[in-house]
Amino acid sequence: MTVPDSAAVPPGHLVIVSGPSGAGKSTLLCRVLDQSTFPLAVSTSATTRNRRPGEIDGESYHFLSPEAFETHRQAGDFLECKEVFGRGHWYGTLREPVTSGLNAGKWVILEIDVEGALDVLQQFPGAITIFIHPGSVAELERRLRSRATESEDAIQQRLAEAGRELERAATYQHQVINDNLDHAVQEICDILAEQGD
Ligand code: 5GP
Repeated sequence: MTVPDSAAVPPGHLVIVSGPSGAGKSTLLCRVLDQSTFPLAVSTSATTRNRRPGEIDGESYHFLSPEAFETHRQAGDFLECKEVFGRGHWYGTLREPVTSGLNAGKWVILEIDVEGALDVLQQFPGAITIFIHPGSVAELERRLRSRATESEDAIQQRLAEAGRELERAATYQHQVINDNLDHAVQEICDILAEQGD
């Protein structure tokens, strides 16, 4: 007997959202969560970077020591993981919450960098990909500086990384320019609605 392909495909949808640090992805996604009628779940990544003021462990990220992160990595617990922004800071998507969310029919949103997105696409070629652009590079720099949580070196690293991320934007199915929050939120809701039809 031939088992139909669809039997292996989990009922949910995987949505990959990338864009330079400071493009406003988290704020946008918060608003999309409030506004969308789909069962959305934003995956909480693990990271070894320091917690910023206002960030909550287990919500913003799972903040892990480098040793704990490495233990998960060795155990194969990550769907993907990368050292983003040069030496020292690891970020990763834990596999289990993603697969259980998809199996439960959720729209699981991954907010990850372009390298991580490539790894996830190899495993989930049907994922929906959305790239968030800052209004302009000047606006991006303003946002990074207004956080006032990072050293000048870190800001420069993030700006350089932003250039590399923007070069890969065209490989994403959907481009959203975040120069107006309300419009950008609506655009993302429209993209999801199109896929849900
Ligand atoms: P931030 O330190 O500003 O919170 O995030 C820095 C960058 O790391 C963001 O552009 C974000 O897309 C990326 N990032 C966050 N979580 C993950 C993850 O789990 N995997 C990968 N590959 N990148 C991530």
